[in-house]
Amino acid sequence: MHRRTFTRLSIASLLCAPHLAQARKPQSVTIVGAGSAGLTAGYHLAKAGIEVQILEASKNWGGRVKRFKGLGDMPLDLGAEWIHDDPNIFGRMIGQGPTDLGIRTINYRPQTYKFWHNNRLNKFNALRNFYQEVKFLDTTWYGFFERFMLPTVAQNISFGAQVTHVAEQGNRLSLRLKDGRSLDTDKILVTVPISVLKRGQISFSKNLTPPNLTALKDVDFGSGFKAFLQFSERFYPDMLFEGARSSILADTWAEKIYYDAVFGKPTRQNILGLFSVSEKPTRRSALNNADLVNDILSELNEMFGGVAKASFSGAAVQNWNAEQHIQGSYSMENRSPYDLSEILAPVSGKVFFAGEALGGDAQSTVHGAAFSAISAVEKLLNE
Ligand SMILES: Cc1cc2nc3c(=O)[nH]c(=O)nc-3n(C[C@H](O)[C@H](O)[C@H](O)COP(=O)(O)OP(=O)(O)OC[C@H]3O[C@@H](n4cnc5c(N)ncnc54)[C@H](O)[C@@H]3O)c2cc1C
Repeated sequence: MHRRTFTRLSIASLLCAPHLAQARKPQSVTIVGAGSAGLTAGYHLAKAGIEVQILEASKNWGGRVKRFKGLGDMPLDLGAEWIHDDPNIFGRMIGQGPTDLGIRTINYRPQTYKFWHNNRLNKFNALRNFYQEVKFLDTTWYGFFERFMLPTVAQNISFGAQVTHVAEQGNRLSLRLKDGRSLDTDKILVTVPISVLKRGQISFSKNLTPPNLTALKDVDFGSGFKAFLQFSERFYPDMLFEGARSSILADTWAEKIYYDAVFGKPTRQNILGLFSVSEKPTRRSALNNADLVNDILSELNEMFGGVAKASFSGAAVQNWNAEQHIQGSYSMENRSPYDLSEILAPVSGKVFFAGEALGGDAQSTVHGAAFSAISAVEKLLNE
């Protein structure tokens, strides 16, 4: 959920993949990172008959798309959850244009809203007339990639493969991995979160370093976690914000929203979600999962008077700051003099970048990451 959704238009009119079929065939391509961007790029390159390998530092594919099963009877999205655009993006992500892929979605229009302000809960249901988005009915973003992209790319992914250095080797590239291995490739597509690039965890030899890379220090990468709590009673509204009603209009990346995580879904269970992202880590970012859940329960008890702790039955937590290869939520404000597309422009026709930070109007979303990958693949095939 992005509170900015209330104020910003979602325009994701980037590429439509059929162009790729006509592109020139290159040699081998290595993708760094198996999140939304890496999987999408791998899918389109493999479909185009290119020899592709995806190097993923962690033990799992998906990156900030992650599924949890075991709390209630619906799968939960520990990272991306909302579809911040028209559902026709699904077909476009797999190069079939705005086709109906049979993915069941819900028109997400919460009906009851409360604001916690000055130690009081205030109702503001008028918001139901303004806010609507799309969510999955019975699957997740993870389920989307699992069904539509993974079958094409699963055999191309190497896990535990953390890239640390990229250098020229004659006409080709040489990639060094943390475990000491080195690999050759012709072109590389880097899709790691910008947190990794900001910290210099992947270095590039002189001729391959993007000239404005140091400007990334002026691009924020936020902090964030999600928590889901199950209760025997549904004591909460569809959405609950902190602050005065007017805070909803603030143009800020920081969000702390409680929401009925199974609103409109086919279940009778009560799962409350907490989505929390901010520019800087908060007190809660440093808590371990058990302490975080206790802290949340105390807050809910204060708001609702005892019922939260009394009816609590279990929780799932995902602290994105603690993920070694992600280190936060998503890219935020850019205070540098360059656009992100200038900072992460292709280098020497060999090094390319994609990922949510390059999503343009859809920055910090799954489809923004995917469309940036399609765009990078098209450039990569043509340079
Ligand atoms: C709490 C939260 C809620 C969100 N909610 C939504 C939402 O509702 N809707 C939405 O559209 N978006 C949402 N997003 C944003 C969305 O999840 C991301 O924009 C998107 O998943 C990013 O995809 P990506 O491929 O750019 O990066 P990632 O998913 O981060 O993938 C990058 C991959 O690179 C790997 N990697 C890192 N370093 C290396 C290395 N050195 N070598 C090899 N591999 C490496 C990482 O392990 C990771 O798997 C949310 C994000 C968060 C954190």
